Amino acid sequence: MRNLNRRDFIKLVGVSSASSMLALPIRASATAAYRVVIIGGGFGGATCANYLKHFDPAIDVTLVEPKKEFVTCPFSNTVLAGLHDMEFITHNYDRLRDHNKIHVVNDTVIDIDATKKIVILNNGNKLSYDRLVISPGIGFRWGLIKGYDDEASHIMPHAWRAGEQTILLRKQLQAMDDGGVVIIAPPPEPFRAPPAPYERASLIAYYLKKAKPKSKVLIVDSNKTFAKQSLFEAGWKKLYPGMIEWVSGSDVGRIERVDAGSMQLFSSSGQEFKGAVVNLIPPQQANTIAVNTALTDQDGWCPVNQKTFESLKQKDIHVIGDASIVGDMPKTGHAANTQAKICAANIVSDIRGVAIPEMVYSTSIYSLLSKKYAISRASVYRLKDNKIKAVSVKDSPNKASKKTRLQESKYALGWYKSITADAFAKEE
Ligand SMILES: Cc1cc2nc3c(=O)[nH]c(=O)nc-3n(C[C@H](O)[C@H](O)[C@H](O)COP(=O)(O)OP(=O)(O)OC[C@H]3O[C@@H](n4cnc5c(N)ncnc54)[C@H](O)[C@@H]3O)c2cc1C
Repeated sequence: MRNLNRRDFIKLVGVSSASSMLALPIRASATAAYRVVIIGGGFGGATCANYLKHFDPAIDVTLVEPKKEFVTCPFSNTVLAGLHDMEFITHNYDRLRDHNKIHVVNDTVIDIDATKKIVILNNGNKLSYDRLVISPGIGFRWGLIKGYDDEASHIMPHAWRAGEQTILLRKQLQAMDDGGVVIIAPPPEPFRAPPAPYERASLIAYYLKKAKPKSKVLIVDSNKTFAKQSLFEAGWKKLYPGMIEWVSGSDVGRIERVDAGSMQLFSSSGQEFKGAVVNLIPPQQANTIAVNTALTDQDGWCPVNQKTFESLKQKDIHVIGDASIVGDMPKTGHAANTQAKICAANIVSDIRGVAIPEMVYSTSIYSLLSKKYAISRASVYRLKDNKIKAVSVKDSPNKASKKTRLQESKYALGWYKSITADAFAKEE
């Protein structure tokens, strides 16, 4: 552990421009006993806790997370395909707690008192903070699809939070007869991980092609287009000819009602779809704690200052990750990880009374279409007029050799290993 210097910051945050130079003076005493509480130990929260301690070990950091182990959504589609097991996507907080001296509290925050600067836990305990960071991820807008609620999600799993839902969907695929139709119904944007439903379609097809070759995947979309569409469609043609069908939101409209008993979906355009397995991904918003503590806007997401990630609704509370409104950045783990570092740097620089110069940052998202075939999107962002704007978005080439797609699948695995090591302070 050491204090942050300029070279360290650039290495740690991974910012890529010379204009991103940051000079935080090394003054550990200024931050002694400064308390930061972080709600949510996923990609945003775990990374933020880790980097606050990297930048200044004197800060007292508490991470509140109900689960003892975190199961990542990234690579959960490979579990559906049978390429990895649940253990591969499960990470603990041991190193954050034991090595990096972060207090890990396994509980749920049920309320925030922004005036007294305390958070209230489910067990009745209170934690006071000087600064609060919240990265609670997504919540589901259950009321928008008639017939789809928590109970129905045990019949038609969403698997949009990884864990039991992932296992359930995998079991349903294994139990399905050959010749069955698997329906994937992505919600209207914005939602967590825009390319992930289509990666899921690919990897389910990968499994079906081997285990149940007469089966099909039908994507009933509420959107008219989707991320990396031409790359996915070219891949499907090559790897799974005739196996994956995509129905556009311009035909379907939106899914308005389900009947979990008969495994049917009903759309606003009057169409009905019936599947042997139905993966219905519901419309989304920021997770409950953000909604219940008035950190969200009328659409259910949290407006923030896009430079510091401080809430526009409450002072000294920062919101990062999927729950926040962050310009052109997608709701991905990589974006949450990047925001977490910038947020941590802003908190430390604020405590020390120094400004952070403008930064350039990047995200990449890989999608696996099979074990040996992946595509990617790499984006670079800058802050313009107080909004995070994409200044470069680069997809994999439309035409590429087998070797290139194989190489990208190796990069995808490398990305996963390094981002989870980065967030959970694991030794790679
Ligand atoms: C199928 C799928 C594939 C994906 N693939 C990729 C990928 O390849 N690359 C990529 O970059 N992203 C991917 N993503 C997106 C990624 O999972 C999310 O964007 C990322 O997890 C967001 O991080 P977060 O910190 O906002 O939320 P999360 O990582 O979900 O963490 C939120 C945490 O907050 C906790 N929490 C919630 N409420 C409370 C409370 N009241 N008190 C205490 N704790 C609380 C939750 O238990 C949870 O652990 C994928 C998503 C899906 C669904």
